[in-house]
Amino acid sequence: MHELGITQGIIDRAREAAVANGARKVEGVYLVMTPAADFTQDSIEMYFEMLTGEDEFFRGATLHVEHRPVAATCLSCSDEFSTDAPHPICPQCGSLMVQLDPEAPMVQLTDVDIDDGEDGPV
Ligand SMILES: [Zn+2]
Repeated sequence: MHELGITQGIIDRAREAAVANGARKVEGVYLVMTPAADFTQDSIEMYFEMLTGEDEFFRGATLHVEHRPVAATCLSCSDEFSTDAPHPICPQCGSLMVQLDPEAPMVQLTDVDIDDGEDGPV
């Protein structure tokens, strides 16, 4: 249920940002995911739908997920590289003892598309 809390946190932050910008409704939520995440885009999408299905403010909002690589360090040969795999293999020595950047965010809210009622028919 780890992803549920993470998704809830994203929704809370998106709602805050949208309200701060005078939104009537959220139309899109933009996320960046890295391989540091121990869950899949599918589970985020599933929980997003589950948590916003009954929520007028988020109804019909689209989730946009961009995947970004993350910095990794090989613990065997100290090679540093960037990877989009959750369990990468060192390109230098083939070791599986690779540590992903501990500072890398698993998933991050980057933008929110809102309907502020200022354009289009009401
Ligand atoms: Zn290595």
